Formats: sequence, C-alpha cells, structure tokens
Amino acid sequence: MMRATAKKTGHCPRCHDDVRTVRPWAHWRKLRYGYFGVLALALFCTPVLLCDGFILIPTLMIFIAAIGPLNALVAKQPTCAQCGAVVDALKPASSASMPGSTPCSCAR
Ligand SMILES: [Zn+2]
Repeated sequence: MMRATAKKTGHCPRCHDDVRTVRPWAHWRKLRYGYFGVLALALFCTPVLLCDGFILIPTLMIFIAAIGPLNALVAKQPTCAQCGAVVDALKPASSASMPGSTPCSCAR
C-alpha cells in the first residue's frame, strides 16, 4: 500500500496547486541493480543450475519473469494524492509561482 508524502512534493497540473504526492518506494531502482547482480551470479552458476531440471531451472525461470513487474515499478510516476493525476516536479519557491507575476527570462 502506497501512502502520500508528508509534505507537498509535486505540482499537480489538474489541481493547479502544489500537492502531496503518492510515489513508489524510492529503492525499486537499487533493487533492480541487485536483481541484475543475482542474474549475473546465476550466469556463473549455470553448470550447477542446468544440472537440475526440476528445482533450479523452474526457479530461475520464475526469477527471470520477475523483471517485468520490477521494470514497471521502477517506471511508475509520482501521482497526486488527491486526484491521481501524474504530477510535475515541484519548482523551487520563487517569483514564478506568485499570482500575477510575469515570468522573467533572466532568472534562468
Ligand atoms: Zn491533483
């Protein structure tokens, strides 16, 4: 279960406001690197793995199939906690967010 962030961490284009966001676990990417590490280890262990057609090969197949959901979790975008729309990154507090102000090109 994913919960919204404690602070406002994104700007929702649908709500037109800075909002709390719902974002996937921050360490899915690191876990994916670990996944590829285990896969590389499995590559070195292929002589052992391929000896066992009943336990190790089916286990390896299940492990390889896990990359799909893992990639989907890594690619998930943070969403608005109120309406569920994909949010933009929160802009730093500046004159750009003040109402009635004209955007200044020199501030970049
Ligand atoms: Zn929203």
